[in-house]
Amino acid sequence: MTIPAGATSGPALVLQAAIITPDRVLDRGWLLIDGPCISAVGSGPPPAGARVLDLGRRMVAPGYLDLHVHGGAGVQVNGTSVAEVADSVTAMARFHATHGTTALVATTVSDARDTLLTTVRGISRAMTKADHHAATVLGAHLEGPWLAPSRAGAQNPQHLREPSISELHDLLDAAMGALLLITIAPERPAALAVIRAATAAGVVMSVGHTEADFDTTRAAFDAGARHATHLFNAMPDLLHRRPGPVAAALADPRVTVELIADGIHVHPAVLALAVTAAPGRAVAVTDAISATGLGDGLYRLGELEVKLVGRRVALAAAAGTLAGSVLTMDVAVATLAAAGVPLSVAVRAATATPASVIGATTKGRLVPGADADMVILEPDLSVAATIIGGQVVHDPHRLLRPTALIETAGRP
Ligand SMILES: [Zn+2]
Repeated sequence: MTIPAGATSGPALVLQAAIITPDRVLDRGWLLIDGPCISAVGSGPPPAGARVLDLGRRMVAPGYLDLHVHGGAGVQVNGTSVAEVADSVTAMARFHATHGTTALVATTVSDARDTLLTTVRGISRAMTKADHHAATVLGAHLEGPWLAPSRAGAQNPQHLREPSISELHDLLDAAMGALLLITIAPERPAALAVIRAATAAGVVMSVGHTEADFDTTRAAFDAGARHATHLFNAMPDLLHRRPGPVAAALADPRVTVELIADGIHVHPAVLALAVTAAPGRAVAVTDAISATGLGDGLYRLGELEVKLVGRRVALAAAAGTLAGSVLTMDVAVATLAAAGVPLSVAVRAATATPASVIGATTKGRLVPGADADMVILEPDLSVAATIIGGQVVHDPHRLLRPTALIETAGRP
């Protein structure tokens, strides 16, 4: 194969490694990066005349896309000034890029109405900041405030309220197009009307933090909801005579389901079962909080104090209530793989499927024309390097050092 037209006007580079596509792993494959895009993918001998970087036994996967992430490296999304939120979201996106996340949806916890509006404006601001070391901020996921008080989890019950079309409109105005996902408890008054209105406005509505039974959850999907927030957590259990929201979501081909794939929120065996039950519809998320990447201690989730011990975060005031995670996407994929999920399926749950949830058509797949967002993985699935838009953003061992050309390439 020859290098496609256009390759000569910008830097082109071939990575030779195992290439993880949505269907399978190309054992000895190659991938041609041309500026900010992938221009060709193949197996066998790489294109003649190209600069080839042989990555040996390493693998190239699409960059991970996290739909549910509250923080990391000491910062959280919720904040009280637009500038503070924008800075925090950028810092969080930098941290997660070192773990293979190339794009994320900044996720809020329930908060006072004005604080939530400010936070959404801050996320919108963060999207306009060009930071060459950060994952791309695609928009906002509002986890609440329209949630069930009895399923608040680590959300501040004081900030839970009834679904409101007027608040929805205020949020949409503040977000200026950044609002991608909203988690809602469909049994709350007016929830179905809000689901219809938000769906019509282009927001993906997600069922979560809910007491809804099977029929109510099904009604939410019929009203337009298409996603379930951290399936199994903060909702009624799956029981054989009371299938609840878990069965409603797993059984519905219209619906994608989030799994906090840390092996703590959901047992590895159940993670694998859920991935099998919802083929092509399972989404690995982190639900990571500010403590992610840091050591044991006390941290904040929204206004609530939480305590990290080992890999487990719980409310400081209620040690039995999990309060998000300290998970990163690389560990999520490794946890799924260790649970017996085939590697290409585990990677798909962290890439193509979450991209499809929010209509990010140029992300999540290593195919010609897609954004050159990718993660280079060691055989043990740890991150060797991260590339976003054809630019190296994380390469601690200077694996890609000979490719200085792509380091200086402009991001789109
Ligand atoms: Zn969350």
